[in-house]
Amino acid sequence: MKLRLLLAVLVVLVASCSPKPTPAIPQDKEIEKKIEKLLSHMTLEEKIGQMTQVTATILVDGKQELTPEAEELLRKYKVGSVLNPPVRVGTPPEEVSAFVKKINDILIDETGIPCLYGLDHIHGTSFILGGVLFPQQINLAATFNRELAEQMGQVTAYESRAANVPWTFSPTMDISRNPLWPRFWESCGEDVYVNAEMAKAITRGLQGPDPNNVGPYNIAACAKHFMGYGVPVTGSDRTPSSIAASELREKHFEPFKEVLQEGMLTLMVNSSSNNGVPFHCNAELLTQWLKEDLNWDGMIVTDWADINNLYTRERVASSKKEAVKMAVNAGIDMSMVPLNFEFCDELKELVEDGEVPMSRIDDAVSRILRLKFRLGLFDTPDTMTEDYPEFASADHVAKAYRTAVESEVLLKNDGILPLKKSTRILVTGPNANSMRTLNGGWSYTWQGDETEKPEFTAQYNTIYEALAAKFDNVRYVPGIQYDLYTRAWQHEDVDIAPVVKAAANADVIVVCVGENSYCETPGNITDLALSENQQKLVKACAATGKPVVMVLNEGRPRVVREIEPCADAIVDIMLPGNYGADALAALLCGEENFSAKLPFTYPKYVNKFAVYDYKPAENQKTMAGDYNYNAVMDVQWPFGYGLSYTTFAYSNMTVDKSEFNPEDVLTVSVDVTNTGLVAGKESVLLFSTDMYATCTPDVRRLRDFAKVELNPGETKTVVFKLPATDLAFVNYYGQWTIEEGDFALSIGSESVMTRCRETVLFAQPNID
Ligand code: BGC
Repeated sequence: MKLRLLLAVLVVLVASCSPKPTPAIPQDKEIEKKIEKLLSHMTLEEKIGQMTQVTATILVDGKQELTPEAEELLRKYKVGSVLNPPVRVGTPPEEVSAFVKKINDILIDETGIPCLYGLDHIHGTSFILGGVLFPQQINLAATFNRELAEQMGQVTAYESRAANVPWTFSPTMDISRNPLWPRFWESCGEDVYVNAEMAKAITRGLQGPDPNNVGPYNIAACAKHFMGYGVPVTGSDRTPSSIAASELREKHFEPFKEVLQEGMLTLMVNSSSNNGVPFHCNAELLTQWLKEDLNWDGMIVTDWADINNLYTRERVASSKKEAVKMAVNAGIDMSMVPLNFEFCDELKELVEDGEVPMSRIDDAVSRILRLKFRLGLFDTPDTMTEDYPEFASADHVAKAYRTAVESEVLLKNDGILPLKKSTRILVTGPNANSMRTLNGGWSYTWQGDETEKPEFTAQYNTIYEALAAKFDNVRYVPGIQYDLYTRAWQHEDVDIAPVVKAAANADVIVVCVGENSYCETPGNITDLALSENQQKLVKACAATGKPVVMVLNEGRPRVVREIEPCADAIVDIMLPGNYGADALAALLCGEENFSAKLPFTYPKYVNKFAVYDYKPAENQKTMAGDYNYNAVMDVQWPFGYGLSYTTFAYSNMTVDKSEFNPEDVLTVSVDVTNTGLVAGKESVLLFSTDMYATCTPDVRRLRDFAKVELNPGETKTVVFKLPATDLAFVNYYGQWTIEEGDFALSIGSESVMTRCRETVLFAQPNID
């Protein structure tokens, strides 16, 4: 992890006279002058309007046209931002563009300030008809390929601008460490470093190289949801977490810190609470950690209705008005209100009564105006579809397809794969013939429940269609079907007997199981096991005696312990998007090679979850006694697991320093050889282990990764530059520290030891 921390042995001295930290984003003097000038002329109503975001759905009539009443409200409240498409389901780019322009025309006429329009394009242009949908972020993580993540950002930005949309609520960077959580698939899995690296890459693609000059082919990104959302104690959406102070800083804050320091322009807050304090009113985290400690001048937006939720759901405010006061004073800049304008009236009264200082309002509005200047919206408020001829181009499609290929994880292969094209295949299972399940939530609609409509996905292949296009003899018998058009995503119709009958004429059964699409609270579950019906189907397939390839198409790792032995091969395709089935067909026949690795730990039991960076006491198999001899880490598949049609051997691992000082950079290298018969890509993962520490250390931490392509017999040397500060941890008192002692570094089967010469406490943990 690139901590780039300021080393300070004289902790007290530095802390007492520390200058303002280097700005996370360098300020542009011209922009600052413009903000000052504009702000000095703005009325309180205009300022509050800038801080207000409403959803487009309250502005349109049945025909999805902006209503005269809506125009009046936009003028009256001088709204700064709108989210969501005007129509509930996928809309053509020209229509969205024209709709945004209408709003811009009104607001510019009324206030001189363009609107900041935002959409949830979290895996490509997922709300725009015809836009290119990529795999979801959990798949992106499995590629361990930063280049693909950056490409997804670039394509999403370009195609969003084609619809006149300059802002998206992406990337999601909650570390997903509770597999029950219904948003597990929206981020890059359980690891801190993978989330940080992939989010930085997506953001580079979305925003381009200069956050002060976001060009016409780029848009503003939004780091969400700040923070700790991925570890709800209950596993359910928007329920509390209980994260210790040290872990909050070391694991949950770190990806946000990294991405903010690389120019992230906006941030959205976690809807829930940690240790009793909702994030939306936590001044320490919003103002001190983000704005002051990082000297970050970006903009903080709430999540959906979350100021109100401080009163109605969290009950830390005893009225709506008090909730507004708490949130704005804590550091919220923009409220995703989003269904009415009460926020404006309440905030105005609070300012007039001196409950919210004018300085806070000016700070919030400056951040919003700064963003609009950085996006070039004052000069070019609208972008037109005809200026974006590459919308949904073959190049964009190829990038989404390549990402899907590199994201599907081969978990088991007893030799049955690859399949010959002449193989007679029976395809079955509820996920076998569905575009909805390939895409998951945030696809065309929030729940992804209209994806199956021909106008959205008729031109793309389901697994059955892709296999039928690739192999000579493919038959489909569903066995189980979901309800493909409703939010009752767990509903299953079962008819297994025809599958068993059809198996008689097949050489192989490809059984596609998993989940239907869902998102947020509707996706809550109480049992992580794959549904009983689906387990029965897999068992019935195995009982036919025909070889079984099990395809898992799911947003989170549903427990499959009992049916794993039924399958001769298993592929976890997760949520690979519109080109995911084509990718699967090419992988199954060997035209493409598998190269993905799990970015999470796949649990074996519904009552035992684990992450790869657990504590030593959780696995005492190799240690004698200690009353803990039964503690074993028994998972289905570990983090970083994934097979290929070839094999790789690691050798000659070295580290250039057997002892190091905390300011050193270690050079670590290893040789990777393709020892098999076909070409392949390998993700090379560098882990560290702090052997002994004053806080019980994690057994392993991922510190870097690289993806290399090797022909059969070829060897490549992979070199990592590892700053020693990356080996630091946050101690019980919330301070970053590195301690004297031994560290093991490991890659694949190889490991080397090195030793830190001295213990250092770093002065200001948030600062490079
Ligand atoms: C989600 C966010 C999303 C927002 C706007 C919320 O319900 O939690 O992730 O960006 O809606 O659609």
